[in-house]
Amino acid sequence: MNADQALKKLFYGNMRFVTERYAYVNTDHDRRRELAEGQYPFAVIFGCSDSRVPPEIIFDQGLGDLFVVRTAGQAVDNVTLGSIEYAVEYLGVRLIVVLGHQDCGAVKAAVAGEPQPGQIAAVVQAILPAVQLAETQCGDITSNAIIENVCLAIHKLAASPILRRAIVTEGLQIHGAIYCIKNGKVLFL
Ligand SMILES: [Zn+2]
Repeated sequence: MNADQALKKLFYGNMRFVTERYAYVNTDHDRRRELAEGQYPFAVIFGCSDSRVPPEIIFDQGLGDLFVVRTAGQAVDNVTLGSIEYAVEYLGVRLIVVLGHQDCGAVKAAVAGEPQPGQIAAVVQAILPAVQLAETQCGDITSNAIIENVCLAIHKLAASPILRRAIVTEGLQIHGAIYCIKNGKVLFL
C-alpha cells in the first residue's frame, strides 16, 4: 500500500471512530492465523503513550494493521528512531504519522518548566525545543507547543538517512496530526 492509500485508510478509520460506525476490524481467528505467517502493517503511528490516544482504536484498525511506537510526548530517542526505521526498512511501511494530542501532559510539563525526577527529566528535555519555539508565537503556548512538538519529531525523523532514502526512492511520506480528546477527531497538519 502506498502512502496516499494508507493516509486515506487512516482518515476513513478515524471518521468511523468519531461517528461510532466501527468496521468489522481484523481481530478474529482467521486474522490471527494469517498473521502467524508475518506482518505487513500499512502505517507507522508514532504517538504519545497517553492512555486516551490508542492508535488502533482511534483509527478503527485491527491486528497487524499499524506499527505503533509510543513514548510520553512522542519524544524521539535512538531506540524509538530505530523502531521506526525497522518498520520502513524491513516491513516496507510507506506512511509515518506523528500523532500529537490536545492536553498532552508531557508537553504541559515542558511548558511549566519545573524540575522533574529521574528520567522524566529526559522526556521534558526532548520536548523543550518545541516549547522554546512556541514561546515566540502568538496564542496559547501549550497548544502551539503541542503542534511544534509534532513538527520537532518530524524533523528528527527526517534527519534519519534510512528514512530520507525511503522518502526519495520509495515514496515514504511523514505526516503530522493532532488528536482531539473530546471529539475523537484526528486533524492532519
Ligand atoms: Zn501526551
